[in-house]
Amino acid sequence: MPVLCNRCEIKKAHLKRPKTGHSLCKECFFWVFEEEVHHSILSAKLFNRGETVGIGASGGKDSTVLAHVMKVLNERYDYGLNLILLSVDEGITGYRDDSLETVKRNQKQYELPLKIVSYEELYGWTMDTIVKQVGLKNNCTFCGVFRRQALDRGAMMLEVDKICTGHNADDVAETVLMNFLRGDIARLRRCTAISTGSEGAIPRCKPLKYAYEKEIVLYAYFKKLDYFSTECIYSPNAYRGHARSFLKDLESIRPSSIIDVIHSGENLSVKEEVRMPIQSNCARCGYISSQKLCKACVLLEGLNRGLPKLGIGKHHKLQDKLLKSQPLTEEEEKKFKRISF
Ligand code: SF4
Ligand code: ZN
Repeated sequence: MPVLCNRCEIKKAHLKRPKTGHSLCKECFFWVFEEEVHHSILSAKLFNRGETVGIGASGGKDSTVLAHVMKVLNERYDYGLNLILLSVDEGITGYRDDSLETVKRNQKQYELPLKIVSYEELYGWTMDTIVKQVGLKNNCTFCGVFRRQALDRGAMMLEVDKICTGHNADDVAETVLMNFLRGDIARLRRCTAISTGSEGAIPRCKPLKYAYEKEIVLYAYFKKLDYFSTECIYSPNAYRGHARSFLKDLESIRPSSIIDVIHSGENLSVKEEVRMPIQSNCARCGYISSQKLCKACVLLEGLNRGLPKLGIGKHHKLQDKLLKSQPLTEEEEKKFKRISF
């Protein structure tokens, strides 16, 4: 006897939902997955009618599913949003150039406009040239900082009201664990928010915040979405990798672990006396920053001076010098050459 779908009780079940364990047919799975995203959007009031929303699109499964579901829901529930795909080209030969081809196909499939901003045009560096200089250990620090700003800058060029990204429940739970393990209270407090108004220049939100990665893969697979699944060739990111495998181990014993970790993060209260960084603007580029210079400007200064280690770690005392474009002393130069990644 074939197992019937737990929801419609008519069709044959095609899959077991990783999140709930329910056996569902494909159509019911699509429906509940989309409805849960719709519920996340409504309950957090993520968008307002008439807004232009930039969808951060990398060509990977998360952002491809996000673009697809946003388009479906915008039409099904008449959100009245103007959707645009927004991509960042980090300049990684053999990885990003191929994944951007996928985004270009998605643009045609979903009939959405597409804007691509590149590290090369914004910073004068590509990840290929950065890796040549810094090696393969801290490259993701550069890439992460530059990407955050690049998305904002692309969004400003397009005059979008909001950016939404494909971060899923697994990503959020990993980030909670990482911030907890590092004792990064400021980030721990912010990282579970489904939308952030003040962190970047343009408000950001994560409509897939409660969607399990396994379900995103199933959705993309059964919908036959066109996405790119190769890992970045410069991907060490060891710390996140450990948090990820720890979480996967927990999930295999207890599937609700992912949501449980997110709920724990959401419900942590931070003591009043914990000092939170005060946000102002970077004195050089104007981007939002809690220091005189934003992280991207410090990293860029290090790259341009041939001292890439300058931007890694906290070297606030040097920022005044950088700000005034003063040369470093011989001692300081030596120090940054000595620090090994
Ligand atoms: Fe950038 Fe690192 Fe991600 Fe590659 S793995 S795209 S270098 S952040
Ligand atoms: Zn700056």
